[in-house]
Amino acid sequence: MRPLRLFTPGPLNTSERVRQAAGRDLGSRSPVATALSAQLRRAVAGIAGCDEQWCAVPLQGSGTFAVEAMLCSLIGPQESVLVLENGVYSQRIASICALHAIPHRVLSFDAMQGFDLAVVEAALQAHPEITHIAAVHFETALGVLNDISGLTALAQRYRREVLVDAISTFGVLPLDVTSPSLIAVALSSNKGLHGLPGLAFVLTRSAVLSRNMPARTLSLDLKAQVEALEQDGQWRFTPPLQIMLALQQAIVEFHEQGGRAARYEVYQQRMEHLLQGMAALGFTPVIDAAHRAPLIVTLAPQSAVRCDISQLNDYLFDRQLVIYPTKHSNPNSFRVGVMGELSLADIDDLLAAFSTFITGAPSLQTPAFQGNAL
Ligand SMILES: *Cc1c(COP(=O)(O)O)cnc(C)c1O
Repeated sequence: MRPLRLFTPGPLNTSERVRQAAGRDLGSRSPVATALSAQLRRAVAGIAGCDEQWCAVPLQGSGTFAVEAMLCSLIGPQESVLVLENGVYSQRIASICALHAIPHRVLSFDAMQGFDLAVVEAALQAHPEITHIAAVHFETALGVLNDISGLTALAQRYRREVLVDAISTFGVLPLDVTSPSLIAVALSSNKGLHGLPGLAFVLTRSAVLSRNMPARTLSLDLKAQVEALEQDGQWRFTPPLQIMLALQQAIVEFHEQGGRAARYEVYQQRMEHLLQGMAALGFTPVIDAAHRAPLIVTLAPQSAVRCDISQLNDYLFDRQLVIYPTKHSNPNSFRVGVMGELSLADIDDLLAAFSTFITGAPSLQTPAFQGNAL
């Protein structure tokens, strides 16, 4: 059977070698496991360009676990966060703050654009009680890029600290961890790093972790996790060892392929190829070029193009091609991602399927729908 091709925001396609690396048993107290944890922590910090002031804290779970751990562990009870909301993932940050009773204020922006730094600045002036700002680097639900370097520069002028959800950008887009106002970055194994899902990290400054902060959660407590790791190299709870082995291999391949800048180039080539092909078929990006990044794009058919999106999803899925519906008010749009182990040939296959779908050309065959193949 042909493999499923995932043009989605995650989980993403992984390489054969990455999947194979996961295929063995390992004891969590073995020296191999301890060395693996330590090596992954160094490798992830290294990819980010972190110096020794930073530490990488690994956690079991998907990206959201890292975001929740970051917010719960790094903001004190007397502190307050400004949440910059312009999409699904920043709304999630606000939900996490509300659930854990973390003092916060939500500043909402147009979801079709990156946040507006002048509005952020006015909010900082109006609310001196704010100590932190939480933001999402790339809002993956519509595909909207936020200006994190502008934000950290602004925060530095106002002596505020910034926490970033970089889950969809880590390992692909640049992020300057030398900005003094930046104190934490959340990332996961299965986006730009091309590992398997189930492992997340928070990069943070050791000085921030050593502040005396009461824990809000047991399992997502970053400080306790680091203390355990630094005491005897052990995670507090069962580590996802196979996922860690897969990430180790994914990071080898990441460097073999030239590292972050090279991955960015490759994604950009894929995105250009996709957008050219889709333009020729009559589909246009919903978000302006200034706010896009070569990760995922929301597309809508031009009015002359006949395209029923609910049928489109099934049509593509029958051909083992997976795109995502949009979590967006415009129902006649969909998302196509170029992240993970994909090639230009995969994008050509997707374009060809789009072409036959909209021209109504008879398909060669319709394989049986595999409802549980996702
Ligand atoms: C994927 C993603 C997440 C995390 O989603 P999970 O399903 O928990 O892995 C968080 N933020 C952004 C911006 C993402 O793209």
